[in-house]
Amino acid sequence: MVLSELKKQVDFLCDTGHGDNLVLVTLSESSIGSRAATGITGIHSGIDWEHGQVRISTEKKIISYGKDRDEVIEPIREDYDIGSRIRHLLLCPKCQNQLSKYDNYCGNCGQRVKK
Ligand SMILES: [Zn+2]
Repeated sequence: MVLSELKKQVDFLCDTGHGDNLVLVTLSESSIGSRAATGITGIHSGIDWEHGQVRISTEKKIISYGKDRDEVIEPIREDYDIGSRIRHLLLCPKCQNQLSKYDNYCGNCGQRVKK
């Protein structure tokens, strides 16, 4: 979803009487009663590697624990031409967090990655 589509949906909710409602992100963890959720602390435009993105920050950490998390996955390799030379980047295939060539695990989501 892009920001303008999110805005349309938010505008619709505000225009139909939900403007003062608390905004929560539903979590994928078990709960009794209403679904487990966390609040939003901010929304920001991305910089550097997150350029062109809008990031929403939450009160609780949201971590992806897939059953294949322990499977060793090849990291994404990207080359960036920074003028005089090429910079090689390793990115987590699950969350796109930047990795070092020494990492066995992603520091952000815990995914095992090949060195
Ligand atoms: Zn990751």
